[in-house]
Amino acid sequence: MAQFRAAKRNHFNLPRPIERLGELVYNLWWTWAPEAERLFDRIDPSLWERLNHNPVLFLRQVERSHINAVIHDKSYLQLYMQTMQAFDDYMLAENTWFTREHAGLLHKPIAYLSSEFGLHETLPIYAGGLGILSGDHLKEASDLGLPLVAVGFIYHQGYFSQHITEDGWQEAHQVTLDFNDLPVAPVLDEVERPLMVSVDLPGRTVHARLLEIRVGRVPLYLLDSNVEDNTSTDRELTARLYSSDLDLRISQEILLGIGGVRALRMLGYNPTVWHMNEGHSAFLVLEQARELIQSGRTFEEASQQVRAANIFTTHTPVPAGSDEFPHWLIDKYFSNYWPHLGLNREQFIQIANREMPWGETFSMPVLAMKMAAQRNGVSELHGQVARRMWNFLWPELPDSEVPISHITNGIHTGTWIARSLFELLNNYLEADWYENLDDPDVWEAVNSIPDDELWDMRRHLKRKLVAYMRERARDQWMHDSVHPIQIIADGTLLDPYALTIGFARRFATYKRASLVLSDMERLLKMVNAPNRPLQIIFAGKAHPADEPGKQLIQEVYRAVKQSDNGGRLVFLEDYDINLARYLVQGVDVWLNTPRRPNEASGTSGQKAALNGVLNFSILDGWWREGYNGRNGWAIGEDRDYEDHDAQDAAEAESLYNILENEIVPLYYNNRGPGEPPSEWLRMVKESIRTLGPRFSMRRMVKEYTTDLYQPVMLGNGQLPPAQDR
Ligand SMILES: *Cc1c(COP(=O)(O)O)cnc(C)c1O
Repeated sequence: MAQFRAAKRNHFNLPRPIERLGELVYNLWWTWAPEAERLFDRIDPSLWERLNHNPVLFLRQVERSHINAVIHDKSYLQLYMQTMQAFDDYMLAENTWFTREHAGLLHKPIAYLSSEFGLHETLPIYAGGLGILSGDHLKEASDLGLPLVAVGFIYHQGYFSQHITEDGWQEAHQVTLDFNDLPVAPVLDEVERPLMVSVDLPGRTVHARLLEIRVGRVPLYLLDSNVEDNTSTDRELTARLYSSDLDLRISQEILLGIGGVRALRMLGYNPTVWHMNEGHSAFLVLEQARELIQSGRTFEEASQQVRAANIFTTHTPVPAGSDEFPHWLIDKYFSNYWPHLGLNREQFIQIANREMPWGETFSMPVLAMKMAAQRNGVSELHGQVARRMWNFLWPELPDSEVPISHITNGIHTGTWIARSLFELLNNYLEADWYENLDDPDVWEAVNSIPDDELWDMRRHLKRKLVAYMRERARDQWMHDSVHPIQIIADGTLLDPYALTIGFARRFATYKRASLVLSDMERLLKMVNAPNRPLQIIFAGKAHPADEPGKQLIQEVYRAVKQSDNGGRLVFLEDYDINLARYLVQGVDVWLNTPRRPNEASGTSGQKAALNGVLNFSILDGWWREGYNGRNGWAIGEDRDYEDHDAQDAAEAESLYNILENEIVPLYYNNRGPGEPPSEWLRMVKESIRTLGPRFSMRRMVKEYTTDLYQPVMLGNGQLPPAQDR
């Protein structure tokens, strides 16, 4: 990439035999490569935990005596050599899936833009599912060898850390990131100055520097407006995710979309495909059009060319959930821009106009829909909902023919699989199973895993979760001034042998976290059943501006705090990737109760399924496709409701019935002490076997490549353009 490069790294002064650890920490590959994390963990496990798995801080802070110990430890050095060899092989591999299948397209880069990336717990630059999906997408693009480059934001005040008061109210604690402590590096120009992109905002030019994160083979460039050339207000532009301040939001999106294109140009990229993950980056189509018009095209010609190169993925089934701006704001921010497109105000506004109940708006998804060759939703049901929702853009077509397809979400297997399950699969599946993990045949051998080994693995993961929760609770007790009841609410009384349900997700009201609490009497009977108790662990953040979401947390927390549940209902603070990993691996059952069809896909249940945690969910999003009657449970029916109260009542009834009559008996009945529950394990195997391959990011990114990227790369990606109304 021309003369620009990320600043030099590896400055830890490590002894020769393990010197390259300092290089490894600057590539997130170690976060998903089997065993690689042990290179840190084995040096000083308690420091590693204390630093929340931050390898940069770890190498800086670890005591020399620990380092000296491992450089004389043969088995450590062997792990080091193997891992570094695997890293080199990975980075230099020429034989990837993409080179095998699409060798002729290697020189056609794909640009992937998203407002959040959930890559690792040390990088809190994501809020929820959208970010995890983007992060997993990059990891898989790297594994498959796609020529992909990504752009986003590094928010120097990362997504907040959550504290719950004794009364159950969510407090948002500001996190301030020091980039020197993170595996990121500024991109420098030929004289070692930070490379800057700039965009025009009303009355001023705003600059942003670029920071690079290596995600295996994929580079991710993050924009950071916190630079000296900007005013103090503009330095805060990229400070936080999803502000409700419209000026701030539109400024951010101008920086992401228009600045994103300029950043890639400056870095020397000429992408053939532009993938907008949600509408936040959609202004990028305007910048592409401006470039073409500057080189002599008309707006018509330019937009045709832009349309042929863009892909848009929508994630929002709720009309009010999409990103829109009032026209006065568009006047304020774009009146100097539309002349460059050869348009007047009216024509410009029309590109993205949407009639909402509260008036006409400039809609980012409309802009993206109209200027893309390919559009998709993220599950089959979401595809249907999206075709209905955006039908107004193609008024001449029936719902079913609206050109929006779907690709169901998946998860990055290496990131989410428990190490102990990975080892078990290595023992019982074909040696190359991981290479071919999206092939269902490879997973047939899951059935040959002996029950006692599988059960040991499941129990080990639950004990790990409970031990982790206790350590967190202990830490809170010692260091924060919390009320004793909060220590119980943190899970200190949990039993590692009891049937345990997990419910962890963003606390948006449509996710109905309190559905399982709707009949407390009935629930407590199960929770406190002698010899066969039920435990439920809740976790999740509400957006700081989402009052109903915070009230929902409070409602759950108040139920958790009651002594009548014996400490078996629990709320864990500060849901993040690390906690998610413990939960989706450690509980027995994964509960999800969205109000259908609002869950576009959901992915946490896919992580659970892969690890042999049984899904117990509404038939919405991915579960409507994944459920086969034998690999988990469906709450309610495969139908929609007009009446929310009737829906809640019917689905709560179904939830309790299944818990009482199926889940609890299946877990506890028909086994002696210490014996594995064989019927339960049959279902666990069915879950891993049927859902592991299908809801993998491997399957997903291959589908994006063949169904969306490839047609665009070959120049025949165009579908009928959306009509201007
Ligand atoms: C997987 C994940 C999500 C998304 O899960 P949903 O199924 O959409 O609720 C959100 N946050 C974290 C931390 C995750 O790991």
